[in-house]
Amino acid sequence: MTFTLPELPYAYDALAPYMSKETLEFHHDKHHKAYVDTGNKLLEGTGLEGKSVEEIVKASYGNNQPLFNNAGQHFNHLHFWQWMKPNGGGAIPGTLAKKIDEDLGGAEKFKADFIQAGIGQFGSGWAWLAVKDGKLAIMKTPNGENPLVHGAKPILGCDVWEHSYYIDYRNRRPDYLKAFLENLVNWEHVEKMYAEATA
Ligand code: ZN
Repeated sequence: MTFTLPELPYAYDALAPYMSKETLEFHHDKHHKAYVDTGNKLLEGTGLEGKSVEEIVKASYGNNQPLFNNAGQHFNHLHFWQWMKPNGGGAIPGTLAKKIDEDLGGAEKFKADFIQAGIGQFGSGWAWLAVKDGKLAIMKTPNGENPLVHGAKPILGCDVWEHSYYIDYRNRRPDYLKAFLENLVNWEHVEKMYAEATA
């Protein structure tokens, strides 16, 4: 199988109260698993079996919408679990903080704009911090899309599909986005992806 469901890198109850055990059980065990299972079925006979997830996302975009939806969501969720940790949030690490100051007008403006991107994504989708042409950019995408198909490399993403927050926040998407930034983000992982994206 080309796509495999990873274990969560923490216990199901480790992100509470900002993201509950029930949300993670549904989100990881049902939603992400469905993208993996459906993606593997749709891959059969495409000639893309065995390629990297990134290659499949880019190759299927605009060519095979059902495969793209599932491959894109698999890529997004693989990283989403890593972009969070217990007792996350807090100060942005030095190198990245400096770049956020230069490109995005500082940490507070970045957070406000990232939250606004998540709120402004009509319906299901994602808010992103990405590297594009050597600069940081805030982006938003619908459904399973991500910055990879828009010539950029994602280094942080927040899932704003209702399956990610409705159990814990009901319709309060802004409160979920704020809690994600203040209490969940694993900045060390973001910094690592930033270093890889700019290497
Ligand atoms: Zn999701």
